[in-house]
Amino acid sequence: MRILVLIAIGLLLYFIIGNYLRRQKVERQNDAVSAEKMVRCHHCGLHILEQEAIASQGEFYCSQEHLEAEQNKS
Ligand SMILES: [Zn+2]
Repeated sequence: MRILVLIAIGLLLYFIIGNYLRRQKVERQNDAVSAEKMVRCHHCGLHILEQEAIASQGEFYCSQEHLEAEQNKS
C-alpha cells in the first residue's frame, strides 16, 4: 500500500515540475519577442523590426528607396 502512495506523490511532483518548466519556457519565448525592437521609417512612418530596417545617420528606413528619397530631399 505504501508503494502506491509513493507512486502518487511521484506523479504529482512530475506534473508540478512539468507545468513549472513549461511556464518558464513560455516566459522565455515572450522575452524573445519583446526583445525585437520596432523602429519607425523616417520617411513614411511605417513600423518595422530594427533588424530589418536600414539605418543611416541615426535614422531608420523601411526600404532602400525611402532612404534615398530622404537623402535626395535635403
Ligand atoms: Zn518607408
